[in-house]
Amino acid sequence: MDVLRFKQANCKNCYKCVRYCPVKSIRVYQGQAQIISNDCILCGNCVSVCPQHAKEDISEVDEIRTMMADGKRMIASVDSAYLAYFNTPGFSGVREALKRLGFFDARETAEGAQMVERQLESLARQADGRPVISSGCASIVLYAEKHLPEALPFLAPVLSPMQAHAQLLRRAYPGAQIVYISPCIAKKAETTRFESTGADYCITLDELEEWLKDAGVSVQSDVPTDAPHGAHGYVVNGGVLGGMTRLQGLDYLYVDGLDDCIEVLKSVVDGGLQGTFIEMSACHGNCIGGTVFRHKNRKFNLLESRRRVEHAFLSGTDYDLPEAEGIDMTRALKDQHLMVDTPPESVITGILRKMGKFSRDDELNCGLCGYRTCRDKALAVYAGRAEVTMCMPYMKERAENYSEKLINVSPEGIITIDKELKVTQINKAACRIFNIRDTADILGYPVSRIMDEYDFVRLMSMEETQYSDQVFLAEYSVYLERIFICDPERTLLSCIMRDVTQARQHKNQVQKAKLRAAELADVIIDNQLRTVHEIASLLGETAAETKVAVHDLKAAILLDEDGEDE
Ligand code: SF4
Ligand code: SF4
Ligand code: SF4
Repeated sequence: MDVLRFKQANCKNCYKCVRYCPVKSIRVYQGQAQIISNDCILCGNCVSVCPQHAKEDISEVDEIRTMMADGKRMIASVDSAYLAYFNTPGFSGVREALKRLGFFDARETAEGAQMVERQLESLARQADGRPVISSGCASIVLYAEKHLPEALPFLAPVLSPMQAHAQLLRRAYPGAQIVYISPCIAKKAETTRFESTGADYCITLDELEEWLKDAGVSVQSDVPTDAPHGAHGYVVNGGVLGGMTRLQGLDYLYVDGLDDCIEVLKSVVDGGLQGTFIEMSACHGNCIGGTVFRHKNRKFNLLESRRRVEHAFLSGTDYDLPEAEGIDMTRALKDQHLMVDTPPESVITGILRKMGKFSRDDELNCGLCGYRTCRDKALAVYAGRAEVTMCMPYMKERAENYSEKLINVSPEGIITIDKELKVTQINKAACRIFNIRDTADILGYPVSRIMDEYDFVRLMSMEETQYSDQVFLAEYSVYLERIFICDPERTLLSCIMRDVTQARQHKNQVQKAKLRAAELADVIIDNQLRTVHEIASLLGETAAETKVAVHDLKAAILLDEDGEDE
């Protein structure tokens, strides 16, 4: 069963989690990041840094609620980080709230921390000059088990405070289920799901906070301050050492932050730090710098957290723990290291070529993919953990080459300028329009060399990011249909031009032919009218003559022989 959940839909391929994962236990497959549980040391970095909140620890709250509803006795073991998280001076407020949620009882994990400190003192006495490293930080243990098994002999084979406390509570509450309330997700790996001893369940402080909110229960902070106990300090930096009796002749060292811890672990493996007892914590500031304090945008102030815890352990006394007598405090640390096979150089070279790395100079080692070097990335590709397409510079270059190709085959002329009005790109079709033989003659020069810059300036001052027009450029004897576009920041402006000269000329010819036809039609009509008029006037004369003739004829008929009208 995994501890971290992966919300697939949320991943946006930024690779931030890969960059921050100290052991690169994240696989990116088909554009989705996935956690590789076998390698993961549950440091929680990926949870804290993911801008999409794509990863989440798997909560056992529902299961615990069901157990409670079924009448199971549940006992909470509460990590002392609660002092900082709930900003409460004493335990009674938290205990009361847990009981209202349905817990049978609640006790402080600090009791287990005290048992661990006594056991560590005994180990330190028997160390015989060998370095001894505390094993209370689950991420450090997981790191040694999974990635540096050579360090395991130096890790104290002692139960963690949570595991020791779970043993104690089992004695005090026979048959009960133990729930550990934790400041980090790594502790989930120390429950009985993963190890033979430990609490049965583990929920984080923020999961508890959510549960309390759902149930309408709040932690009272106006409770009286508890008596200080030295063991409370195990959650702050150097707190375990502070709770131990120091031995003469032994050096004591506190290291926090995973990078420094790894360096010290390696140095111990190499024979360094003899005669030193080392307390290690993967989180800066120890458990009060744990995952729950860092993620979900919680306001995080390490110093303030330390101040809240300090009063609970400074000059504190020991707990009286009669039930702890005879508890076996040994812990079995397991070598869980997975052998990784190293591919031959030719395979690495082949993968590098697929990422556009043909020479050492091409290997930028920029880290954008999440890997320190291009070779590390190639190895991850070989191991099936990364994809070639995660190389941003390569993908950018590929996209640029492709768009360059597209632009150059375009029949439209395209010219792009920067905000200083200098040409940054021009394609072949635009070169033809402006009679440019070599792009070097215009690239980097003001656009005014070939066309009026006013049209670009006009776009810069407009609210819109696009407009179009039609022009005749007499200098080049071309008619152009143009679209001007720019990016929202107005840092890049482009003009896409269609040469419509031929179409325009054809249109003009057709227009002229029409005009000529119209003129001809006018002439024909004029001629026709003239002819009609002539015919009409001829017809008119003839009619008049006929009229006169007929009139004369009629008069002649009516005349008598003497010439007298009858
Ligand atoms: S940090 Fe990882 S999981 Fe989150 S969005 Fe980026 S790639 Fe995806
Ligand atoms: S929890 Fe830590 S080790 Fe595990 S995947 Fe996330 S960053 Fe890597
Ligand atoms: S150049 Fe590519 S492969 Fe190399 S480190 Fe940068 S992103 Fe990763």
